[in-house]
Amino acid sequence: MAAPKTNEFMEKVVSLCKRRGFIFQSSEIYGGINGFWDYGPLGAELKRNVKDLWWRSMTRLRDDIAGLEATIIMHPKIWEASGHVATFTDPMIDCKTCKGRFRADQINEIPCPQRPSKTVSECAGEKTEPRPFNLMFKTHVGPVESDENAAYLRPETAQAIFAQFKNVLEVSRQKVPFGIAQIGKAFRNEVTPRNFTFRSREFEQMELEFFIRPDDAVAKLAGAVAKLDAGTNLSEPKTDWGWEVWHKYWVEQRLSWYESIGLPRTSLEEYWQRKDELAHYAKATVDILYKFPFGAQELEGIAARGDFDLTQHQKHSGKSMEYFDEETKSRYVPHVIEPSAGVDRLILALLCNAYHEEEVVDEKGNKEVRVVLRFHPRVAPVKAGVFPLLKNKPDLVRKALEVRDLLRPHMNVFYDEAGAIGRRYRRQDEAGTPFGVTIDFETLGEAGPGMADTVTLRHRDSMLQERVPISDLAARLLDQVR
Ligand code: ATP
Repeated sequence: MAAPKTNEFMEKVVSLCKRRGFIFQSSEIYGGINGFWDYGPLGAELKRNVKDLWWRSMTRLRDDIAGLEATIIMHPKIWEASGHVATFTDPMIDCKTCKGRFRADQINEIPCPQRPSKTVSECAGEKTEPRPFNLMFKTHVGPVESDENAAYLRPETAQAIFAQFKNVLEVSRQKVPFGIAQIGKAFRNEVTPRNFTFRSREFEQMELEFFIRPDDAVAKLAGAVAKLDAGTNLSEPKTDWGWEVWHKYWVEQRLSWYESIGLPRTSLEEYWQRKDELAHYAKATVDILYKFPFGAQELEGIAARGDFDLTQHQKHSGKSMEYFDEETKSRYVPHVIEPSAGVDRLILALLCNAYHEEEVVDEKGNKEVRVVLRFHPRVAPVKAGVFPLLKNKPDLVRKALEVRDLLRPHMNVFYDEAGAIGRRYRRQDEAGTPFGVTIDFETLGEAGPGMADTVTLRHRDSMLQERVPISDLAARLLDQVR
């Protein structure tokens, strides 16, 4: 029986990722380690671009958000206060036949290791009752492996933001409403890592905690709290916004950001959690889903968490988390809206969204399949390939190196002189490079002085070529890649 289409598509993406150096299995030479992935040269650039774009949109292009970079291992009391020690668990079952361990809520989706045509729930193996399994990785700080020295690798970056709330508030001289943003590693001992990097045991998060006034402080200041309806203008924050409008504002901001890096709105879904699905402290949670080949799955969660986290830390640390609001002349623990995104899931979404195969005709009139990653130029790992038409003509090579050096301070470029020009274009298509710059005899002025110091600029998606003066090149490309 033919494998389902979605598997075929994912296999192609996974194989391209390995072949071109986006993503490798961690520790591959030792057989790999389940749930851990390494980013190769192209993947590292892609990831860096995504994180830089998030950081820029959150901190540098706004006045009301400050950045933080905290440690991975923190005081273990943080995880008691946050509730992770007691409740950060998944239900786990064991199969007595194959000895496999599975998340009880996923057994209808996970293939049985012994009979992959069946899922774990349908296979004959006898299962244990589900029991809670804490997802935090435990370690010890210092030479003694005792309970007093136990610590955890953070399962989310958010808690450090709450723990440093007062310090950041003081030094940044921000006033509520304001936010603190952080990007960093998080670790979860997932029972069943799967779907390539989608569910990993080590991953990166980009999290914002945006602190707002409680609704009664808003009412005191503005007379009334703004109602959220279809007509609410979400473009500029207003003083009468309560948690509901702020929450919707962040959902819209985040959706627009995904669009700005090349994920069309139609590839995304908003999932508003039902009342019975919400965590006990959450007032509302929206998951932003991407339509992966294996189903629409969460990229980011945006939760209105009330004052739960700061209040918990106030209780457990004995340190006040209250804020004195000059404008309302009142003291309160700020409430929070939390947009929490996973970098690795977003990278996977960008790869799936970009992957295209198309039939094209080469210079000799032969049909061939072109594999192309249609990344938005902003996230593309390499922005421009620079090619001398022929490598055995020193004048072409010299000029091409000049063009490379001209572009290099502004963007990541890749110089390639090996093989036929068509082959070099295809290699960059597979890497998702949006522009190809070819230095040919016209550049050298051999087709007449009018063409001297112009290059061929090839566009990855349309494959159209145009002539552009070298003096305009950097500005033309920067316009697209920034
Ligand atoms: P899921 O229900 O899929 O396990 P979650 O709701 O527990 O995810 P959050 O705790 O809200 O996830 O974490 C915020 C974001 O961190 C998620 O939207 C996701 O992008 C990312 N993330 C969480 N767990 C993982 C993981 N195991 N691997 C990769 N990314 C993850």
